[in-house]
This record gives sequence, C-alpha cells and structure tokens, in this order.
Amino acid sequence: MESVWLRDALKAESGTTITPLDGDLKVDVAIVGGGYTGLWTAIELKSRDPSLDVVIIERDICGAGGSGANAGHALPMWLQLPLLEQASDTESAMHIANASLQAIEDIRNISAEHDIDTQISATNTVWAATCEKQSSHWDEMLRLMEGFQVRSYQYLDKDAVREATGSDALIAGVVDTSSVLLHPGHLVRGLRRVALSKGVHIFEKTEMIKLGRSSPPTVTTPQGTVTAKKVVLGLYGWSLSIPELRSSAMVMYTDAAITKPIPKMLDELGIRGVSGFTDSRVFIEACRPTADDRMFWTKSGGWLPYGDRLDPIGEKPFRTEGELRDVLGAYHPGLRDVEIDGMWSGPIDRTKNGMPIFGRLPTCRDILFGYGYSGAGVVPSRVGSHILASLVQERDDQWTRSPLVSPLSRDFPPEPFRWIGGQIVKAAISHQDHRDHQGREVGPITRFWLQFKPGSYKPS
Ligand SMILES: Cc1cc2nc3c(=O)[nH]c(=O)nc-3n(C[C@H](O)[C@H](O)[C@H](O)COP(=O)(O)OP(=O)(O)OC[C@H]3O[C@@H](n4cnc5c(N)ncnc54)[C@H](O)[C@@H]3O)c2cc1C
Repeated sequence: MESVWLRDALKAESGTTITPLDGDLKVDVAIVGGGYTGLWTAIELKSRDPSLDVVIIERDICGAGGSGANAGHALPMWLQLPLLEQASDTESAMHIANASLQAIEDIRNISAEHDIDTQISATNTVWAATCEKQSSHWDEMLRLMEGFQVRSYQYLDKDAVREATGSDALIAGVVDTSSVLLHPGHLVRGLRRVALSKGVHIFEKTEMIKLGRSSPPTVTTPQGTVTAKKVVLGLYGWSLSIPELRSSAMVMYTDAAITKPIPKMLDELGIRGVSGFTDSRVFIEACRPTADDRMFWTKSGGWLPYGDRLDPIGEKPFRTEGELRDVLGAYHPGLRDVEIDGMWSGPIDRTKNGMPIFGRLPTCRDILFGYGYSGAGVVPSRVGSHILASLVQERDDQWTRSPLVSPLSRDFPPEPFRWIGGQIVKAAISHQDHRDHQGREVGPITRFWLQFKPGSYKPS
C-alpha cells in the first residue's frame, strides 16, 4: 500500500501513464531508482546538458520508496558541518552546507515554476528534548555553529518550546529557522513530472534484476536491458542489494502514522499550525502538522531486516496501533484516540557517522551511487544530485571533490553478525533512552555496545 502522502499526490494526478521497459536500449545515463535522488539527478543532468539521453528505471512507481513516505522535515545540513570540516576543510564544508540551504530554495523555485503543490510551511522544525540528559548536546552544537557563523538556530526554553510546538512533554529545544516542512508525496511526483518535461524517459514497474559491471555497464530488467555510458544507483536502503555497498550502511525501519484532517480539534487544543519537532532520542520520535490539518508522526528504531531482505514501504508498522497512539499521546494527549488515516513503515539507510555517501562503485567506475541519508534525505538528495551529475560528467569540480564523496567503509559486518549485533545495539539504545529519562547513567556493558550505534542526522 502507498503512504497517505503518495495517495494524496496520485489522486491529484490525472491520466498518468506507467510505462514498463520492453526491449533493449542504449543511452547516455541510466538511473536506477525513482525517488528524490534519481529524479533530482536526472533533472540536474538535463539542465546541464539537454542533449543527454537519460532514463530512469523504477521497480514500482516514482515515489514508492522513502521519498513518498517520509515526514517531510526539510533540514539544511548545518549540523553536519563539523563532520564535513573534519573530512575536508572549512570552505568545502561550508559549500555543502550552503548548497543544502539553496536546496530548499530549489524546492521552492521548482514548485513555483512547475505548479507543484509542495505545501512548504511557514513554520520550522524544532529539535527538542524530553529529558534533561538529552538536552545538553545542543549547547556544544550551538557553540560550534557560532564558529561557522551559522546563526539560524534559536534556543527555546520550556515555555517557548511549548508555544512553538503545543506540547508540554518537551522541556526545551532549538529551532532551525532555515528548516521547513513540506508534502513529500507532491514533491516526488512533481519532480517526476519535471523530469518527464525535460525529456527524461521513465520506466516504472521495471525492476533492475542484474547490474552488469562491464564497460559500458548494463542494467537488466525482466523484459529488457539498458546499456549506458554511466549508471547511477539511487536505491536508498535497497542499496544493500548491491554487495559493494552493503558494508557502509545498515537499515532499520521507521514507523509512521497520520490522522484524518482534524482542523476543529487542533483549533480547540490550540495546536493548529504549530511547528513540527523531533525529539533527541537515538530512536527519534517526530511530530508535525500538515497543511490540511492532519497530525503526522514517526518513531524510528523499528524492524531490523536481515541482509538485503528489505520490504517495500509496508502497510504494517513494526509497532502496534496502540503503541503508535501512545507516542502521539505523549506529546498531544488530546489526540491519542483521534481517527487515524494511515500507518506505514519505511527503511532508514544509516551510515556510521550519519553522513550520506556518494561515489563510484569500486568494481566499475562508470557506476555511481548515492545513499546513506540516515533519516534526512529530503534536502541532501538535492545536494547529492549536483555531485552525481558532476561524477557522471567526469568533472573535477567542487562537487566531485566534496567531502560527501568518500570511499566506502567497512563499518557494518556481514550477516549473521550484522543482524545479531544490530539487535544487541538496538536493545542498548532503548536501554540508554530509558535510563536518560530516569536521569541515570548506563552501565559499562551498554556503553560498550553503544559505540557500535549507527549515526542519525543529528551528531551526538
Ligand atoms: C518514515 C520515514 C520518515 C522520514 N522522514 C524524513 C524527514 O522528515 N526528512 C528527511 O530529510 N528525510 C526523511 N526520511 C528519509 C528520506 O525519505 C530519504 O532519505 C529519501 O527519500 C531518499 O530518497 P531516495 O531517492 O534516495 O530513495 P527512495 O525514494 O527510496 O528511492 C529509491 C527507489 O529505488 C527503487 N528501487 C529499489 N530497488 C530497485 C530495483 N532493484 N530496481 C529498480 N528500482 C528499485 C525503490 O522502489 C524506490 O522508489 C524518512 C524516511 C522514512 C522511511
């Protein structure tokens, strides 16, 4: 089943045709994956060189992956600045961070130009905490941001955080005034429309069943083959099906739920049009209103798949409906029993340090990849599209020399150790969250396992 976001977006389309690949093709660029990464890269390539022959191969329909199912928090990459600087220098780090701010402008501009109903909010996302122990890390971050002269964060005390989010459960927070909320489904389907208008050929219901690491590389599908000068893999969590990409990321699912439109209730509770927020747990909980007055919320740390056996976006979350209601109810007690319109669960592709990786496959330099968004791909996928386009064009520029182009790591072990270790680390993270809320420290065994925890988009 599709997410409610995707359902909304599909409903607004009329006469959309799905074309599966049937036959053999020779093209300049074949992009596998029709999400933000694939679509932005296709659009960027056609903008740079309209004569390029670009095709997208998508197993389902564009937006069926993370891009049509996420929470729509569009966050610039300020928090990644220290890590970016560590991997390169201040100028290169600032280049990426500024590009991430520009990415939000790009979303605004492309939406205005192509009439995409992205529903960009006037409010921002608050990074909040639910206990003292989890609120100290932003002091360090705010100090670091000062060093980069980034002034888009404002500290909110308990009253201010309640005023911004409408929740009494949050004890303090910082708001990134450059972040926005958007409708992920309209964005991804809008990008599909733009890509088509620029002459990109999109083959949906077409699964890549084999990747030929030959020169030139090939993408084999059930009813045809694409031979391309360059292949770009925008496969998100499904990148784990590519053996070379498996050891640099792990996947854990995040549960999501959305209410029916409840404008009257939000009004009565005084929370209509509030800001969205994420808490400070490692298994993040996040909540946001929508433009049509629903409440949408997520809880990460769900299903841990074995190997590359990832499900599509699933109708059935890892947690029960009651557990998900409790998550919303903890922040907005008056909404705990409100009518739910949809629930689903989707993968998060986490790298060890929480940074996405872009590059060339070591076994075939004409195959490029971008993945590992660690829960924050809405904005970085646009930044990554510049990098992937420059890699396709064999340029030597600020994009190809960026700190996000990095060698693949061996951070995550092969199965069965990955899954077994993952379950232990997952338990350690939950235990730490529990202890944090009791104001207590964890013991040495938990601390030992916590060193293996993967990154999220918030550096700890
Ligand atoms: C519940 C949830 C909440 C999230 N919230 C946020 C948020 O608030 N903010 C944020 O920035 N990020 C968030 N994310 C992450 C964000 O959604 C992703 O980082 C982003 O969508 C990645 O885009 P993508 O194009 O790389 O991947 P996708 O959109 O998943 O695209 C990959 C595509 O590849 C296709 N595919 C897979 N295998 C094959 C194959 N063999 N052949 C052909 N096609 C294939 C899939 O069907 C899919 O459509 C969230 C993710 C989830 C699941």
